[in-house]
This record gives sequence, structure tokens and C-alpha cells, in this order.
Amino acid sequence: MDLLPDLRVAVARGQIEAYFQPMVDVSTRRIVAVEALARWKHPEHGLIAPNVFIPLAEEHGLIGEIGAFMIAEGCRCAAAWNGGSARVQVSVNVSAAQLTTSSLLDQITDNLRRLSVPDDVLVVEITESLPVVEIAEVNALLNEMRLLGVGVSVDDYGTGHSTAEQLAGLPTTEVKIDMSRVQAATPNDPFIRGVVTLAHARGITVVAEGVETEAQLDIVRGLGVDRAQGYLFGRPESESDISRLLKNTP
Ligand code: C2E
Ligand code: CA
Ligand code: CA
Repeated sequence: MDLLPDLRVAVARGQIEAYFQPMVDVSTRRIVAVEALARWKHPEHGLIAPNVFIPLAEEHGLIGEIGAFMIAEGCRCAAAWNGGSARVQVSVNVSAAQLTTSSLLDQITDNLRRLSVPDDVLVVEITESLPVVEIAEVNALLNEMRLLGVGVSVDDYGTGHSTAEQLAGLPTTEVKIDMSRVQAATPNDPFIRGVVTLAHARGITVVAEGVETEAQLDIVRGLGVDRAQGYLFGRPESESDISRLLKNTP
């Protein structure tokens, strides 16, 4: 099935939607953040997973448009969910291709200003393999984002070529330990312990991804992880479902 022609029109026709998955504080289990995850509701083929269409979009130069849409949606929801005294961070995934285009900073600035999103609410998630490409350029861009009050999260940590230098070398505010590491973790897990020590020494928040069981939560909490995300707390949900969930959160 050739999805490419359909993907070209999907954004324009509103077939791509942002879903949001909660992240909780491991001690209180309160929702402190949500991650925006793209969903494609194809008129004939039904729901298509981002693992299928994001790589396709990256390969064929469509990620800029989808990425811009996700940033706009993330900011719109961030504004809606952060009225009054409420504080819930909203993380948006950003591809390498977006980070190396000059418009990303403008898009983020425009959305934050137009919607009056408070500081420290928007977070961009980048993958660790990315900074190697054009490290100086990416570093400068991320520093500018930090000046706007945008958080920088290093995603999927512990897969591929993760190094402590990469984590320490960028203006990182958060690190997300990959699900594969979390689900295989032991109470004395040296990898996770190492990440926590390194991160906390730099004031970086540590998130465990893919927490599905109470036992996994106990282990990551014991290892000093700050936040957790996973099916134990909730799957990615539509904006209206998350809005309802946040309203019912004390
Ligand atoms: P990711 O950024 O690592 O996002 C987490 C993925 O893990 C999500 O899959 C989420 O649904 C899934 N997940 C969360 N908790 C659990 C759990 O407890 N168990 C299991 N088995 N899975 C869990 P999803 O939504 O299918 O997204 C897959 C990937 O697609 C994302 O991985 C991200 O790399 C990419 N992606 C999604 N939306 C976007 C986007 O807007 N832009 C970019 N560039 N990439 C995106
Ligand atoms: Ca992510
Ligand atoms: Ca991840």
C-alpha cells in the first residue's frame, strides 16, 4: 500500500491529530506533564501508527508540515490547560530534520506569544542520535529555546549511541529513559542509577518511559527516577479526554 500520496494531503485535510499521554510524578502519581503523539486517522485504512508515517514523512520532506502542526497543537493545548494556577507541561517530539531548519525557532516563538503560553510549559523532545549531526548548530538552537523558557528533553535514552557526553553537552532539562531499559530494570540497575546520578548533578529531570506495572514503578522510584510515563498511568488519549482527566485531577 503506497501511503505517500495520502500522507501529502493528510495534514491539509485534518487527518492528523495530536493525542496526549500523561507523565506522572513518581511519588504523588499526579499528572505533571503530557506528551503529544501524532495519530493519522486514514479515511480508508483507519488508524495508522506514527512508527509507520513519521519515518515516511521524514524521508519525503513532509515532516516539517506535520511537525509544525504538532507544535501548534501542543501550544494551543498548553495554553488551554495552563490557565489559572494549573501547571502541566506539554512535550512535543521534534525530528532531526526540523532541528536543522531555521523556521523551528520562529514557529515556537510565534505560537508561544500568540497563545500566551507560560514559561517552562512547552518541552521539545529530541532523540539522542540527532545532536551528532550538526552539534554546534543544534546546540545554539536549543540554547535559544531555553531562553524562551522551552525545556529540552533527550528522548529514548539508552538505545543506540547514548553517551554521558551527549547528555551533558546539550542544554538538557529532561532525559527520558527508553522503555526497553525500564522494562528490563532491576532494583540495583547500574544503567538507570548512572543516568539518575549524572542527570541530578546537572539539575536534569529523569523520566522512565513505558512503565506498565506497579513492580516497574517501584523499581524506577527506588532508583531515583522523578517521573514516569506508561500504560500504568494512561495511554495516549484525545485532547478532550485529557482535558477531562486534567479537570478531575485535584
Ligand atoms: P516516543 O516518542 O518514544 O513515544 C512513546 C511511544 O511509546 C508512544 O508510541 C506511546 O504510545 C508508547 N508507549 C507509552 N507508554 C507505553 C507503555 O507503557 N507500553 C508500551 N508498549 N508503549 C508505550 P506511539 O504514539 O506509537 O509513537 C511512536 C513513536 O513515533 C514515538 O516514540 C516518536 O518517536 C514518534 N512520534 C510520534 N508522534 C510524533 C511527532 O509528532 N513527531 C515526531 N517527530 N515523532 C513522533
Ligand atoms: Ca517522545
Ligand atoms: Ca521515547
